[in-house]
Amino acid sequence: MGDVERVECVYRDPNAPVEARIKDLLPRMTLKEKVGQMTQIERRVATPDAIKDMSIGSIMSCGGSGPFGKVKTVSSDWANMVDGFQKLALESRLGIPLIYGIDAVHGNNSIYGATIFPHNVGLGATRDAELARKIGEATALEVRASGIHCTFAPCVAVCRDPRWGRCYESYSEDTEIVRRMTPFVTGLQGQPPIEHAKGYPFLAGRNKVIACAKHFVGDGGTDRGVNEGNTILSYEDLERIHMAPYLDCISQGVSTIMPSYSSWNGRKLHADRFLLTEVLKDKLGFKGFLISDWRGLDRLSEPRGSNYRDCIYAAISAGIDMVMVPFRYELFLEDLTSLVESGEIPMARIDDAVERVLRVKFVAGLFEFPFTNRSLLDTVGCKLHRDLAREAVRKSLVLLKNGKDPKKSFLPLDRNAKRILVAGTHADDLGYQCGGWTADWKGSSGRIIIGTTILDAIKEAVGDETEVIYEQFPSADTLALQDFSFAIVVVGEEPYVESLGDNSVLEIPLNGADIISSVSDSFPTLVILLSGRPLVLEQWLLEKMSALVAAWLPGSEGGGIADVIFGDYDFKGRLPVTWFKRVEQLPLHIGVNSYDPLFPLGFGLTCNNEKPPK
Ligand code: BGC
Repeated sequence: MGDVERVECVYRDPNAPVEARIKDLLPRMTLKEKVGQMTQIERRVATPDAIKDMSIGSIMSCGGSGPFGKVKTVSSDWANMVDGFQKLALESRLGIPLIYGIDAVHGNNSIYGATIFPHNVGLGATRDAELARKIGEATALEVRASGIHCTFAPCVAVCRDPRWGRCYESYSEDTEIVRRMTPFVTGLQGQPPIEHAKGYPFLAGRNKVIACAKHFVGDGGTDRGVNEGNTILSYEDLERIHMAPYLDCISQGVSTIMPSYSSWNGRKLHADRFLLTEVLKDKLGFKGFLISDWRGLDRLSEPRGSNYRDCIYAAISAGIDMVMVPFRYELFLEDLTSLVESGEIPMARIDDAVERVLRVKFVAGLFEFPFTNRSLLDTVGCKLHRDLAREAVRKSLVLLKNGKDPKKSFLPLDRNAKRILVAGTHADDLGYQCGGWTADWKGSSGRIIIGTTILDAIKEAVGDETEVIYEQFPSADTLALQDFSFAIVVVGEEPYVESLGDNSVLEIPLNGADIISSVSDSFPTLVILLSGRPLVLEQWLLEKMSALVAAWLPGSEGGGIADVIFGDYDFKGRLPVTWFKRVEQLPLHIGVNSYDPLFPLGFGLTCNNEKPPK
């Protein structure tokens, strides 16, 4: 079809209603084009042939898989790459634009120079819905500036067990707190008008981003917190505890939802027709599209990916509309095509899936604005966004202990003290500050992003006369000879993701307890713990500390920590998850019998050792 002809089509008319455009476009599509639209591939296999001839619906980057094989790729590199792919898509027979997706889960975390916000567990500690919305808004700008149209966020898991390696991607163990933070979706996509039809996807223009609520459903409720494990619950409890946040996302017009790798009562979510179609689409009225998780179909068989055709059959029949294949897409296209041609999968199911994909593309305005709005490039890592991230860090800090004698507060610290010792593995490490999903999938250590470490921030905050000495593992000489007013020890977890983070020991790694112990034997010590979840804090260790702050995984803006420990702002955060005493107690969350935590859900102090205002 030539360009002129295309212009006359209803589907190309920006003023025609979305449903009319879908109705016009769908019958023009061949089966090959339809299955193409149901396919999402990784950018490394996105050849011109795949995009143009197969009419691939979407491309994604896993973790930090950035453009052109460069290490620290900036937004303009990404925009050039995505626009290049988009150009090819527009050259396909029907010129259907593609969606580029990424995991921007705490800011646009794969792009060098982006603002990195605290991971969700820290945001849950703020209980601040408006903050979540603003972070969504800022993230949307930084994502769109990089050419990308969709983020696989937010994760609205309700984490019932901190042994789960994705605890930090969850806002809370408490459904109500998770629900409260879902305006992140509105931040990403924009605010739908009151008359907006419930369940219908929404996107307010070219500076907004397609959101993806994940992982439907019960991912945070698996037995023993095992990633991709089994959630054993009645339907009523599944609905009440884990499904409720999806209702909030749907009412905000969330455009896509990702099923979980996990199972519900032994049945894999990716093949659960009851939950995906009867509940999510029919009962809850979700009209966007369901995108499978990364190789989620392969996981439907053992060994993984054997009987791939059967896996495809199960997932598409269950209601998945687009498949994150992401590599062996030729096989996927071939098998799905043959399943339709043989009548095993009815054409009506394919049409339903394609309609949903097209609906999101029309709603998102991709036919009208397929390319990057380069004027957004200035927003990436801008001061406004970094200030917002810094505010988020301040609000996320939970003060767990303040003074050996509770009547005598230890914090705030004196910024004009003569000499301060800063110690610990995490005091000067941006990678550790950010955790997983930063720069690349697993995250790593060091100056992998642009930002301010806690040490940088302390140095900036103290008076001109104050000397700050930093030693990761202070030597016996330092501890014996020097005359420090107090010490600040920053320790915590190393970055991890998904199953790699499953952990049933939950001790402070990297000799964290030893560093705390030796420093606090010598000086009054503030301990700042950077972690995605509660860790074991033995009583003897806790007693040695003068103060303890849970700072979660704060991201690029270490300044937020200095703001609060030196008293420019008071502590506001409250625990989003229960702090257990011993791992043997797990799973320990609100609602379990014999609730006997070290610090309960909602615990947190102010500098006066009072409760922060709600
Ligand atoms: C994760 C998802 C993520 C996807 C794409 C999967 O391994 O479970 O949360 O969106 O990868 O990177």
